[in-house]
Amino acid sequence: MTAKNSVLIIEDSPAVGMLLAEFMRKLGYTDIKTAETGHAGITLFKQYVQDGITPLIFLDYNLPDSTANSIMSQILPIKPFTKIIIETANGKEEETIKEVIGLGAYHYLQKPIHFNDVERIITILEEEESYLEKKSQQKETSKDTDIDEEKITEHINFILTTTSQISLNKISQILGFSNNVVDDYLKKLESKGRLVQLDSKKEIACNQCDSIRTSQIFYCPNCKSSNFKLGKLIEHYDCGNITEEGTYQNDLCPNCKKEIKALGVDYRVMQNHYICNDCNEFFPEISTSYICLKCENKFKLEDARWKSSVNYKVVNTK
Ligand SMILES: [Zn+2]
Ligand SMILES: [Zn+2]
Ligand SMILES: [Zn+2]
Repeated sequence: MTAKNSVLIIEDSPAVGMLLAEFMRKLGYTDIKTAETGHAGITLFKQYVQDGITPLIFLDYNLPDSTANSIMSQILPIKPFTKIIIETANGKEEETIKEVIGLGAYHYLQKPIHFNDVERIITILEEEESYLEKKSQQKETSKDTDIDEEKITEHINFILTTTSQISLNKISQILGFSNNVVDDYLKKLESKGRLVQLDSKKEIACNQCDSIRTSQIFYCPNCKSSNFKLGKLIEHYDCGNITEEGTYQNDLCPNCKKEIKALGVDYRVMQNHYICNDCNEFFPEISTSYICLKCENKFKLEDARWKSSVNYKVVNTK
């Protein structure tokens, strides 16, 4: 369990990075590394992995040279069980939060960062790890009979805080119990008004091991690299140059050195394009495939298996 003390913070603001590092030190973590770019973060992550360590990761949603999707698409295929906590700007759309959780992030942390929030997430994470560790030490056969009711309820409650809808299949797989066992708990929560049963839901499952713990991976359509960023491009009509906004220094086209003058007349801005950091190609859309977080199998959407189970709406008690 060498991973316990290692934390990697990928955060472009040195002030926020230092604050987080300080919080984690207070929580007893000793091996803390900070990277200010996505590139530096991935390099540090690979070093950790080489040393046999999977660090806990704090990841800034908006990095200058990368996106959270890009970083996660580079990390999860190497270590599918890496715990990634995404830092989102205050007031970030609920959609974004759902999206990053759906992509395999462990949790999210809203900025400005408060010690209490960090402590709460870390406490749950540590409890969950020790729970899973204990569970993996038990014999497979004692799986459904040797159940710590209180712990399961606690974990289900935690899982429910990360989402507004969840399927029976998904909860069962996170907890590692059969649908029959988990269903009893969900029925209880339903009678307490915490959950509302919806229609059944079909979910993408691994075409090798049937697990629905999968994550979407993004990559460049040209060179297949997952190292990309989201940015603005400017097209200079006169010479046809299309490059990033930042390459037009002092409003001069980097190709023909002429000044760009009027938007829509001699140039246009192309918003929200994915720009590959490896081959420099840009795309309005990025390619995607899936990775199974259980057996590490990679597969395309069209090859996915689908599994359906009862879906629940989570009633927010806040
Ligand atoms: Zn699988
Ligand atoms: Zn590329
Ligand atoms: Zn030009």
